[in-house]
Amino acid sequence: MSDVKHAHNLAYDVELIRADFPLLHTSVHGKPLVYLDNANTTQKPRKVIDALMEYYTTYNSNIHRASYSIAERSTHEFEQGRAKVKGFLNARGVEEIIFVRNATEGINLVAQSYGRTNVGEGDEIIISAMEHHANIVPWQMLCEEKGAVLKVIPVNDDGELLMEEYEKMLSERTKLVGIVHMSNALGTVNPVEEIIRLAHAHGVPVLVDGAQSAYHKVIDVQKMDCDFFVFSGHKLYGPTGIGVLYGKRELLEQMPPWMGGGDMIASVTFEKTIYNELPNKFEAGTPHIAGSIGLGAAIDYLNGVGMDRIAAYEHELMEYGKQVLTAVPGLRMIGTAKEKASVFSFVIKDIHALDLGTLLDTQGIAIRTGQHCAHPVMKRFGVEATGRASLACYNTKEEIDALARGLVRVSEILG
Ligand SMILES: *Cc1c(COP(=O)(O)O)cnc(C)c1O
Repeated sequence: MSDVKHAHNLAYDVELIRADFPLLHTSVHGKPLVYLDNANTTQKPRKVIDALMEYYTTYNSNIHRASYSIAERSTHEFEQGRAKVKGFLNARGVEEIIFVRNATEGINLVAQSYGRTNVGEGDEIIISAMEHHANIVPWQMLCEEKGAVLKVIPVNDDGELLMEEYEKMLSERTKLVGIVHMSNALGTVNPVEEIIRLAHAHGVPVLVDGAQSAYHKVIDVQKMDCDFFVFSGHKLYGPTGIGVLYGKRELLEQMPPWMGGGDMIASVTFEKTIYNELPNKFEAGTPHIAGSIGLGAAIDYLNGVGMDRIAAYEHELMEYGKQVLTAVPGLRMIGTAKEKASVFSFVIKDIHALDLGTLLDTQGIAIRTGQHCAHPVMKRFGVEATGRASLACYNTKEEIDALARGLVRVSEILG
């Protein structure tokens, strides 16, 4: 339905897109909702909500084990979800797509399985100064356990990585590089292909945290040549509780499972258990069946609109937002990288971010305030907290204008 409506040869019609998202038509404090917290989670199109409803009302059943019709259907639809993710990331095969709860769990899986097997005392793991806590803490835990060292690529005042520093860090002691594709706190888009090329020259695998990039950009894991890529379904217009770890097959095959239980085994005796093949080896227990189905529906939706068209539209919005917001008196933008996507982090005079968020809410405007699960990057820019407006495929220039007006008003009241 939407697929025809959003035909690729037609101009991007944001009002048609908005019509697909029921929650966008809500009011808050008597004002139409202006939802600008997409880096935190995105709203869901009707197609996703319907797919979840259909599963629970017409074929809810467990997968991979039953011989009856509705269970065959749920198994089929669950695996279709995986096939859609494979297509979305352009992975080589479905066995490279591991379902997890979210991006955080994907990173923990790699740290616990790949990391514990391959990282020893004195070895090094490289991350960057703009990582989300999800790509810091799992590596710290691993380093603590193994006596390994965490190295951090610094950033300049615009929020761009110092690539020369990174190059100098790579050595025979480096065992893994973990890098965010697009920063949730600064909006910076990192040159991941270059980062990966340099790491591979030292034989070092790279994990890319794609939690932000996956819903803004066309992702091609083969072209990028990353070894691992993680994202969360809930930021890709899908349900919470489902996420994806992509891994190159050769690596995943060598890695031990990190959780034991049903579905991840081929056979079990008390003497010895034979593990299942990929991807099931990493999916112990009943998975989030509805989650895979809902994520598959979200991917269908995005393919219907076209990720390339979404990326182009959001780029236009971002350029517009940059102009309008930097014109707000007293506003300081945190994160001014040349390669930037639609996240605006800012402080206004010395107004507390929380007060900012609360006053905007009275005008129906939802932004995130705080530290965005990235304490170190806030510290790097010498701010306690920021306000953050982040855009998605359904936001409009009018909403950005409303935000700017709201900020001017807040600045007048509190500044
Ligand atoms: C949101 C986010 C995460 C964590 O996602 P969860 O869904 O909470 O696991 C990790 N990295 C970045 C860059 C994010 O924006």
